[in-house]
Amino acid sequence: MTSIAQRRILLAGNWKMNLDRKDSVALAEQLVAAVSQMDHVDWVVCPPFVYLDAVGQVVRGSAVALGAQDMYHEASGAFTGEISAAMLQDLGCQFVILGHSERRHILSETDQAIHRKVLAAHAADLTPIVCVGETLQQREAGATMESIQKQFDGSLGSLTEDQIASTVIAYEPVWAIGTGKVASQEQAAEVHADLRKMIRNRYNVDVAEAVRIQYGGSVKPENAGGLLACRDIDGALVGGASLEAESFIGIATANQF
Ligand code: PEP
Repeated sequence: MTSIAQRRILLAGNWKMNLDRKDSVALAEQLVAAVSQMDHVDWVVCPPFVYLDAVGQVVRGSAVALGAQDMYHEASGAFTGEISAAMLQDLGCQFVILGHSERRHILSETDQAIHRKVLAAHAADLTPIVCVGETLQQREAGATMESIQKQFDGSLGSLTEDQIASTVIAYEPVWAIGTGKVASQEQAAEVHADLRKMIRNRYNVDVAEAVRIQYGGSVKPENAGGLLACRDIDGALVGGASLEAESFIGIATANQF
């Protein structure tokens, strides 16, 4: 199992429902060329489903891994519009974002549904990036950790030690996503430390030290350095700033970490 000394920074770009085929391929090409010189961090891009194949062909064999933005928990069958973990594997995906706040809030995804997806992702050897985070209302009511504990219990409930150790958790305060409002270093560091404590309480210190916990919410080159320097922040899940090579790559060159 990895320890803090071995936890590598993981930068994942969530392209959401943006870019077309041409721009997706061009962005992937720019990233592949640039990150070959930057192996101090791990890189993932998560294009829309329909461009996974095209982007996968560009990143294959490079330092950039391919991820999807969601999947369905069933292996196959009559589930119109859904995509299985095996299908993502088939396209070369190694990661899948699960429980993003946009899916929780806009598409009413529940912790139970996310939990089923997390188990299915592990069963197919995909690394899930599982998002948790409080709304502004919850933060203002002093219920930040209560809401995160609920999402942690509900979405990651029955995982084995090996499964949780190879799960990435993304702490994404809902009020900071796509808003330009970034959590302060202190706010993020506090939640990350508490999340690691949750893992330690349920499992043990070795497992807690192995799990990579990303921060997400308006991360850009200008604010990444301080966040990524925090002990318990092991990378970033990046939306807007991942849509251009310069700003995504700039996050890895932010000084201080
Ligand atoms: C996200 O979509 O996960 C995200 C953090 O978006 P942004 O970086 O744009 O806030």
